[in-house]
Amino acid sequence: MNSDEPHVRLAAIRDRVTVAAEKSGRNGDEVTVIAVTKTHPASTVARLRGTGLTDLGENRIQEAATKIEELGRTPWRWHLIGSLQSNKAAQAVRLFDVVHSVDTLKLARRLDRVVADDPERGPLPILLQVNVAGEASKSGFDVRGPGDGERWERFLDTVQEIASLPNLVPYGLMTIAPFEDDPERVRPCFRALAHLRDALREHVPNRDWRELSMGMSNDFEAAIEEGATMIRIGRALLGDRSAAI
Ligand SMILES: *Cc1c(COP(=O)(O)O)cnc(C)c1O
Repeated sequence: MNSDEPHVRLAAIRDRVTVAAEKSGRNGDEVTVIAVTKTHPASTVARLRGTGLTDLGENRIQEAATKIEELGRTPWRWHLIGSLQSNKAAQAVRLFDVVHSVDTLKLARRLDRVVADDPERGPLPILLQVNVAGEASKSGFDVRGPGDGERWERFLDTVQEIASLPNLVPYGLMTIAPFEDDPERVRPCFRALAHLRDALREHVPNRDWRELSMGMSNDFEAAIEEGATMIRIGRALLGDRSAAI
């Protein structure tokens, strides 16, 4: 058995997920592992068939379109994890099952209209991307939490508007933490996103804010300990991306 095989790596990741989940009083199976397949060819992704992993994350529309054509829709659930421009909303709605990267009211409204125009598809599950670390280079709503004064009020107004759109199902939050070798340094970001989610449960109770998409290859255990329900794993599962191209 080759330790580079995705199913071997997946088993090791699942063990680590279980340990981290137990630390937060949960079961490992309450955490969805999303395989981030960007830059990897469909032939590599196909090796995940039969492993029980069905959630795939892509960050570019065009690359995803090609792969979805090659791999098909079943048994996969395709997650858009990269930023989305409003003018590509229609393509995204056609391709993806979940959009993690809704970060403006304008984009949410556009997605809502596009879904309404497509009689085949039901309401679109979305997550709101939050830039909890306040990094200038990252997209996402610029808010840390309810202590954030006017910024929090503005965010809350926006979320309430998004929550009233009939064709979207906002059901959680997503963040991309800064890259750090030591996951303890990003733990505060994960904790902040969880607090923000708790605040939305209180202030926007007409929606179910159950998902927290946070944690990547180098920090997913800390994210799970802080409440992640979806982790997005690229390198730890499929190897280096530079080697993949
Ligand atoms: C690439 C990417 C990941 C996966 O990162 P790894 O460090 O390879 O696990 C997760 N989330 C997003 C948004 C990404 O773009």
